[in-house]
Amino acid sequence: MPSSVRRLTMATITNSLSLKHTLSFGFPQSKTLTRNRIPPSSNSLAFRCYASYANENREYVIVGGGNAAGYAARTFVEHGVADGRLCIVTKEAFAPYERPALTKAYLFPPDKKPARLPGFHTCVGSGGERQTPEWYKEKGIEMLYEDPVENVDIEKQTLTTSSGKLLKYGSLIIATGCTASRFPAKIGGDLSGVHYIRDVADADALISSLGKAKKVVVVGGGYIGMEVAAAAVAWNLDTTIIFPEDHLLQRLFTPSLARRYEELYQKNGVKILKGASIKNLEASSNGNGHVAAVKLGDGSIVEADTVIIGIGSKPAVGPFERVGLNTDVGGIKVDGQFRTSIPGVFAVGDVAAFPLKIYNRIARVEHVDHARRSAQHCVKALLSAQTNTYDYLPYFYSRVFEYEGSLRKVWWQFFGDNVGETVEIGNFDPKIATFWIESGKLKGVLLESGSPEEFQLLPELARSQPPIDKAKLQNASSVEEALDIARGSLKAAV
Ligand SMILES: Cc1cc2nc3c(=O)[nH]c(=O)nc-3n(C[C@H](O)[C@H](O)[C@H](O)COP(=O)(O)OP(=O)(O)OC[C@H]3O[C@@H](n4cnc5c(N)ncnc54)[C@H](O)[C@@H]3O)c2cc1C
Repeated sequence: MPSSVRRLTMATITNSLSLKHTLSFGFPQSKTLTRNRIPPSSNSLAFRCYASYANENREYVIVGGGNAAGYAARTFVEHGVADGRLCIVTKEAFAPYERPALTKAYLFPPDKKPARLPGFHTCVGSGGERQTPEWYKEKGIEMLYEDPVENVDIEKQTLTTSSGKLLKYGSLIIATGCTASRFPAKIGGDLSGVHYIRDVADADALISSLGKAKKVVVVGGGYIGMEVAAAAVAWNLDTTIIFPEDHLLQRLFTPSLARRYEELYQKNGVKILKGASIKNLEASSNGNGHVAAVKLGDGSIVEADTVIIGIGSKPAVGPFERVGLNTDVGGIKVDGQFRTSIPGVFAVGDVAAFPLKIYNRIARVEHVDHARRSAQHCVKALLSAQTNTYDYLPYFYSRVFEYEGSLRKVWWQFFGDNVGETVEIGNFDPKIATFWIESGKLKGVLLESGSPEEFQLLPELARSQPPIDKAKLQNASSVEEALDIARGSLKAAV
């Protein structure tokens, strides 16, 4: 056996199947030598067996059909291990898509060319092939739609789905993402006209409400709240955003940066109520169970016929608690190759609590870039001899007011850690940058409206954390000059 194949075989055995159980699959047992396998022709008997999945056994199963699942599927295909061997079980009725679009182009008003499937199926976000449902069929990947997994039996290596299917897996990848946090029913969280947004079905329900709405309240000043509020004013709706913090996106923005965004939102017609708590959502007095107002902690009332709650999300650990949870950050505990404590069981994307090597801490990251990279890393570790530890650099971005005719389209990116002191350069129009500096080192950078070359510099800076002259940076007269200073510090550090 050539050494590369032997290495592949060894890695597959260690990372993949638990050796406790011998699985008998409904297809030839050439699993570990896949790279050398000649794919069966589409009219051969073998192919028909693969495609029909006559029995309950599956070699590789991904639970969840979101961003991470889409990129995992792509990596299986790249390794030649998808055809007849990979099954994706998802709660949704759609093949994986780029979820961030749901609060961006998906919410554009009908006359402003909103995004619709199949336009944003995975991997549009990273420039790969568009993975439509047909793509999965062509690649021989079995898709089980609208059939959430309700139970896992770790000893027997089986999953039970809501429709009653029993699936025996060889290796299992949990990619169940998060669920949107809800207001309890007793304070009106379930009234009609109250929306949470996590998937296409939620976004469709919201669009249908926006089409009839007059007064919209968005609860939450984070990414989701900011993106939805920016979309609602494009529908010419009376829009108020309410949040308990002192300013927008408190987890990342400095007060000064947030002020610029708040001014932009106000110029676009969004009313902002900050430092406000919600007491409850009030139902209409006509008894139809529709929301009519938001009552604040101070007793004041904001009228609303449509309310969108964007107050965060929770890892969807669902039936997988026994796989081992992390109690600090939530989610399923994994190592640097996304292995859980159970051999042959992996977790990726939003639901995974993984070692964030660069900052030496355990983290859960709810961002699409991590979903993509974690899925790719996990599948490579599962299928090949790769033993590298995942080394993720935190990256966040958002885009708002992107629709045709808006006063100004806004796009920012952040890389690194938002710790230490900050230096802000630029006045937002045309661009602005914020640098986070701790113990004399550059730790994080946010750039708004940069050029592609400027955006490219950010991960280099955040990854290298070069020593930087704060006074010199503060004296920069433009964002370009500040970035030149940062670039210089990068070169000096080499
Ligand atoms: C509206 C919105 C806007 C966002 N905007 C941005 C952004 O601008 N930038 C950014 O970086 N990130 C953004 N994110 C976050 C990003 O989309 C997520 O980090 C990413 O989707 C995580 O991928 P995932 O595969 O781990 O989870 P998801 O994409 O959420 O996929 C999880 C899938 O698992 C399914 N599932 C759950 N439980 C089960 C079960 N028991 N059985 C079967 N299937 C199950 C779900 O239905 C879903 O299909 C946004 C998220 C949302 C909701």
